[in-house]
Amino acid sequence: MTADVWALADRLGPEKVLFVKEPQTGLKAIVVVDNTAAGVAIGGVRMATDVTVDEVFRLARGMTLKNIVAGLPHGGGKAGIIADSKTSLEHKEALIRAFAQSIRNVKDYVPGPDMGTNETSMAWVKDEIGRAIGLPRVLGGIPLDEIGATAYGLAVAAEEAAPTVGIGLEGSRIAIQGFGAVGKYTARFLGEAGAKLVAVSDSQGARYNPRGFDVEALIAHKESDLPVHSFADGIALGADALVAIDCDIWIPAARPDVLTEHNVKDLKAKLVLAGANIPATEAAEAWMYKHHILSIPDFVANAGGVICGAVEYRGGSEQEALATIETTIRNNTIELLERISLDHKAPRAAALDMAYSRLDEAMHYRRSFGNKQPAPYSYEEADFLTM
Ligand code: NAD
Repeated sequence: MTADVWALADRLGPEKVLFVKEPQTGLKAIVVVDNTAAGVAIGGVRMATDVTVDEVFRLARGMTLKNIVAGLPHGGGKAGIIADSKTSLEHKEALIRAFAQSIRNVKDYVPGPDMGTNETSMAWVKDEIGRAIGLPRVLGGIPLDEIGATAYGLAVAAEEAAPTVGIGLEGSRIAIQGFGAVGKYTARFLGEAGAKLVAVSDSQGARYNPRGFDVEALIAHKESDLPVHSFADGIALGADALVAIDCDIWIPAARPDVLTEHNVKDLKAKLVLAGANIPATEAAEAWMYKHHILSIPDFVANAGGVICGAVEYRGGSEQEALATIETTIRNNTIELLERISLDHKAPRAAALDMAYSRLDEAMHYRRSFGNKQPAPYSYEEADFLTM
């Protein structure tokens, strides 16, 4: 495990990797503070039985890139609690409170919600250590899933990117993998812009209707705890069939690494918008670039949630959060498209250029990140001056 951690390190980070074991509650957790050049790290706490240090590091790096590209005064971090998120509420509370205590002194990391945790979990964290984002409204939180913060940003990115591949949102056919907080709201916002949801999936299966679904009816169906494949309209398919669906815009909003070199060739879409984090492998991204499928990387397209969290952290309002998401994601998508076209670079390479140039500038101001300028007052100078 240690060898893996060292193998993950590069010039940007991680700054800290913490392994926590607390026998009383059975807590086992991993915390990665990747890079704090721009400010204290913010990033979610994932609760899953299979979370690994590699996954937490990759997600933490994703947060470093996402936060710097979004212009937030925050670095990137992430945490994983190795446990079943569907454990009893009492056990979950005990685990999360113990986790919060374990990071009491990791003051450069502010936790937020992620898969398997929610605003209640963040309320427990805040109660223990006084810092967390993604809180309930009553504690000053802006409920990012309830307002569809990430989905709102994805819809803005879609609006800017679609014309580049010769489509407008009006009448475009979209397919969404995953119909949770991100997927449902993305369907709603894109539907309002005139797009047609022709296929959707969740962990249990998929549903296809080339004429387009009634999005609100489908959301109501899913919210009554029914899988999308059992919706009345359209035809049922296996979850894996979604990749090959005939559509214009394909939106992964579920798990990492769902597009691989094995299935990416089946894609019919012209535009892929990353709702999920790291949804495509490097090989899949290279294939898309070679075959003129435009893919907007996660840390540009799905930053709406963390922008909302950062606005909450500084005490801003819901309106402010939505306005910041719109401006930031619109400007970043435009800049990305320009860089792709002018620099002849693949989308992820162009997006990484955006992130690295901003990160290098932030690191330049920080001595601890290798700025070799002497400190304004070294002890020797101070001694000399008083002699
Ligand atoms: P969620 O748990 O609310 O929903 C996930 C959905 O994906 C569920 O409908 C689930 O059934 C489905 N799913 C799981 N495995 C699947 C599979 N193999 N095939 C098809 N569907 C599958 O999660 P969410 O908050 O909507 O997040 C979705 C993704 O977006 C995650 O990767 C998350 O890291 C990322 N993300 C979320 C936010 C946010 O604001 N919630 C922000 C940025 C990125």
